[in-house]
Formats: sequence, C-alpha cells, structure tokens
Amino acid sequence: LLIENNGESDMNVFIVYAHPDVKSFNYALKDVAFESLTDAGHRVTISDLYAMDFNPVLTPRDYNQPTIENQENIQDQQDELREDDTLAEDILIEQEKLKWCDFLILQFPLWWFSMPAIMKGWVDRVFAMDFAYTKGQWYNEGMLQGRKAMLSVTTGGAQHMFTNTGIHGPIDDILFHIHHGMLYYVGFQVLPPFIVWQPGRFPDVERKKYIEEYRQRLLRLETIKPIFYPRLEDFDDNYH
Ligand SMILES: Cc1cc2nc3c(=O)[nH]c(=O)nc-3n(C[C@H](O)[C@H](O)[C@H](O)COP(=O)(O)OP(=O)(O)OC[C@H]3O[C@@H](n4cnc5c(N)ncnc54)[C@H](O)[C@@H]3O)c2cc1C
Repeated sequence: LLIENNGESDMNVFIVYAHPDVKSFNYALKDVAFESLTDAGHRVTISDLYAMDFNPVLTPRDYNQPTIENQENIQDQQDELREDDTLAEDILIEQEKLKWCDFLILQFPLWWFSMPAIMKGWVDRVFAMDFAYTKGQWYNEGMLQGRKAMLSVTTGGAQHMFTNTGIHGPIDDILFHIHHGMLYYVGFQVLPPFIVWQPGRFPDVERKKYIEEYRQRLLRLETIKPIFYPRLEDFDDNYH
C-alpha cells in the first residue's frame, strides 16, 4: 500500500505495525499516524504484519535454499546470496520500502519486554547483511544512514513501574536492544519513543488524549532531537 499525496510532501514515512487485533489501541495509533502524516503532506506506506501474514522465521528458504546444509554461517549466506539477488521476494519488497523511506515508525504493544515475535522476525529477515549493514558499515555508518526512526509502543504496566526504582526497571533499558541493537545498528537516528502506558486501564477520554498527543508529536517530528549514541569514530580499530 503506497499512498501518494498531492500536497507538500517532505517525508516518506514507513510504518511497520504489529498487532493481531483490528480493534486494538495499537490499530488506532497506526491509523492516526497515517491520517495526520498524509494530511501534513507526507507520503506514508504501511506494513501491517499480521494482515500480510508475514513469515517471521528466517530459514535457508529465504535464499532459495530448501536444505539446511551450510547453515553454520547464515550471515555469509545472506551476504553471498544477495549478490545473486535470490533473497526471498517478501524480503525484497520490505527492503524496497526501507530504501524508499526517510522515517520509520515501529508500532507495537510491549510483549515480554520487547516487540511481538512477528516484528522481531521482520527485523531478522529484512535487515539482512549487505542490505542494512556490512563489515565496518554499522551504527552511524550503517547502510540505512540518513534516515530516522521512532518506536510507538503501548504497555500493560503503569509508568511508575518502568523507572530506575520501578519493578520492571527503566523503559529506556528495556527498549535499548531495539533502539541501539536494531535501529541505530543499521544507521537510523533514533528519536525518543512515544509510549502509551496501560491503554487498557483508562477510560476512553484518557485514550483520546493519548491519540491527540501522538498526533501532535507526529506533526513536529523534525524538531525532536535523536537519542545520543556513541559513534564509530569514538573508538579505535578494536572498538576500545
Ligand atoms: C504476549 C504478551 C506479552 C506481554 N508482555 C508485556 C510486558 O512485558 N510488559 C507490559 O507492560 N505489558 C505486556 N503485555 C501487555 C500489553 O503490552 C498490553 O496489553 C498492550 O500494550 C495494550 O495495547 P493494545 O493495543 O493491545 O490495547 P487494547 O487492549 O487492544 O486496547 C485498549 C483499549 O483501547 C480501546 N481502543 C481501541 N481503539 C480506540 C480508539 N480509537 N480510541 C479510544 N480507545 C480505543 C480498546 O477498545 C480497549 O478498551 C503483554 C501482553 C501479551 C499478550
């Protein structure tokens, strides 16, 4: 689904959305992002992973290799086989959307301190070596550099549970593996996340406030400072 907009279009925004329920609050957040960004003149494309029945399991079949021989170094396979352009079609389609975008939004509910498996599998398969990163080209030199990304996340727990002294620990620590280990790793500048705490626990009027807050955030994406992470040039050849 690629929607062209006739207005002033500054950014190509790619929303990857993972929630199994069309009545969910995540679905509503995905919708409000689509509406407000297209209204503001941006172009938006969405990958609705459940609706697409996206296959999240990285296997040798992704490289048109039906056997599991030579599986010991799957990164080398990703590397070599990309050169022959034999990556699975569904991966290539997602990679085109990533190349196209200036801004990536991952929309998901926090499941087991992380993203739903279908989205983790999207990352496993789509952020392939030699597409998203390669030797020496990672973090600020990652192959998707020049783009920004942001998580839009809902939780089951309350905000006070996700602090330094809270029962779950700080939310920034919980999201670090996504922010740093996936998005920054391949070159994205990562904006602070938009978090809706416990949408299931509050009355409709509170949820509507969150929707409005998200709309406002989306309209000023350009002004939000990315999270600071160390750069490759801060390290020597052995990453000391
Ligand atoms: C496998 C699993 C693991 C989990 N692990 C964690 C964890 O580690 N940490 C944690 O904190 N939580 C965890 N949870 C809880 C989960 O994060 C929350 O249930 C989820 O984030 C809530 O978001 P939702 O979109 O699913 O909300 P929903 O429950 O779908 O929606 C909440 C409410 O919003 C309403 N709504 C929908 N659309 C609108 C709209 N347009 N306007 C106003 N209201 C609307 C719905 O009707 C509903 O009443 C886990 C849940 C599962 C299933």
